[in-house]
Amino acid sequence: MVGRFYLDLHPRDGKYKHAAQFTLQSGQAGKRLPEAALICNFPRPGSLLEHSEVVTFFHEFGHLLHHLLGGRTRWAGISGVRTEWDFVEAPSQMLEEWCWDASVLQRFARHVETGEPIPADAVARMRAADEFGKGLRVRQQMFYAATSLAFHDRDPAGLDTTRLSAELQERYTPFRHVDGTYFQESFGHLEGYSAIYYTYMWSLVIAKDLFTVFRREGVLDPKPASRYRRAILEPGGSAKAADLVRSFLGRDYDFRAYEEWLNAG
Ligand SMILES: [Zn+2]
Repeated sequence: MVGRFYLDLHPRDGKYKHAAQFTLQSGQAGKRLPEAALICNFPRPGSLLEHSEVVTFFHEFGHLLHHLLGGRTRWAGISGVRTEWDFVEAPSQMLEEWCWDASVLQRFARHVETGEPIPADAVARMRAADEFGKGLRVRQQMFYAATSLAFHDRDPAGLDTTRLSAELQERYTPFRHVDGTYFQESFGHLEGYSAIYYTYMWSLVIAKDLFTVFRREGVLDPKPASRYRRAILEPGGSAKAADLVRSFLGRDYDFRAYEEWLNAG
């Protein structure tokens, strides 16, 4: 027995509207099992899942695996996903890579009428289409990260959040601020993630580097998977993320894989 998790995958009135992995109980070696819930809002059975929803499921499942498999640490306070916040998105973002691999998708993604597994060339075309606008998406993420950091690194007295947000938008993205709009008022990550929205892009640098091992050795090969489980997931927050990553990669992580991803397509 490793842990317990609950799936709450479909919408209903009054329910949380996004997708997230929530910790119900942090695990502790010899004392209690980790427990978690995956809360999503996917179409009900009988409808079809979009590919982006599959990616969301894998992303949140990545957090879930981290929480459960890292739930046997000596203290609950360092269990599973309770690691450095600028690393916490790396395991979940890395698991998204499996959704872009034809050999993985063909195990479950079938044509709704014929039952034929998704053709590899359709997956190749989906990957090509995903390249469109990637630079804009990255710059938008940099704008969000800069906003979250800038709102927290100065005296709040007299801080004009609308003006600062507009300045940052125009600095980081090619789009001009539209007067009378207040993006920051509904930027949910300002709560919870506060100053460190940058974790998404920073973790992505690490995720892209971690994935180079699976790209080389195979996404369905149990050997790199169990090395990854032991080196990265099981220790949870009991060691510095940089040390865990080094023990898996055999070197410090760097920007090469991220840069290659940025320049692809
Ligand atoms: Zn996440």
